Amino acid sequence: MADEAETHRDCVGGCMPQLPKSALAKRAKRHKLGEHQLDQLLQALDGRCMICQRCHAMYIDTTTRAATVRLRGVVCRWCKQRIAVHEGSYGNERGVLGCRCRPRDDPEWEPRMAAATAQYLERTARLTSYATDQEWFEALIDDLSVHGPDPSGVWSGIPLSDLPQLTAPESLPTAEFDRSCSPLARQRCADNCRNHDEHIYIACFAEPTKLRDADTFDAVMHYVGWTRQRPPVRRVNQHGAICRKSLIAIVPGTETEEAHLKDEAQCPQCGRPLRYN
Ligand SMILES: [Zn+2]
Ligand SMILES: [Zn+2]
Ligand SMILES: [Zn+2]
Ligand SMILES: [Zn+2]
Ligand SMILES: [Zn+2]
Repeated sequence: MADEAETHRDCVGGCMPQLPKSALAKRAKRHKLGEHQLDQLLQALDGRCMICQRCHAMYIDTTTRAATVRLRGVVCRWCKQRIAVHEGSYGNERGVLGCRCRPRDDPEWEPRMAAATAQYLERTARLTSYATDQEWFEALIDDLSVHGPDPSGVWSGIPLSDLPQLTAPESLPTAEFDRSCSPLARQRCADNCRNHDEHIYIACFAEPTKLRDADTFDAVMHYVGWTRQRPPVRRVNQHGAICRKSLIAIVPGTETEEAHLKDEAQCPQCGRPLRYN
């Protein structure tokens, strides 16, 4: 950490990078993580909170709205509070939220924090496809080492309009869809559909195309993605205008179905495999 000295001048009690190894090991054990997993995760994050990405990580965050409590990631004290307020853990009381790292005069800071929270919740929503927290942390560490802590570019100047949007969880009912048929047989949703809480989207390109914030760095002929953002077109736009322009399907669907499509389905437009290579 290059700016370790400067950061630590501002440290408060509970900064994980400041804890003795034995204390970290104890926490990892309490959460049934592998011996080095917490260490590795903190290393991949340069010791920072996964949301504000400036304060040190202080807590292992867990889900609050799921039937079973699962580990999500690591955050600072203030961002943990931000998630709790967002998820309604404090009832309807919503005080002003800050963070220790909040800059003095930056009108974009609050909307960027909201986007960073959305990015965190979207990224960690994938944990439900892992059987154990250990497997999830392993996947998260891998994902961080490939895509970095800020795949949507919340803190790197991407315009606010292109960033993930935080939507209030309690105000979002979800419409049912036919789960027995293939996602490709489902009726296409409007790009700005707000009826479903998860969507699969497919883009078919005229030539090999590189996308921003994608799960591949290669130039690809097709892109298949899954999102919980509402409307789903927000997520599509995060890959760049070309993805929106080349979109051939947005349908309700699960992450498992997305993975399946990517592996074995053919493009409904050009008939070639959707597989990346
Ligand atoms: Zn600190
Ligand atoms: Zn934070
Ligand atoms: Zn912070
Ligand atoms: Zn829909
Ligand atoms: Zn195609």
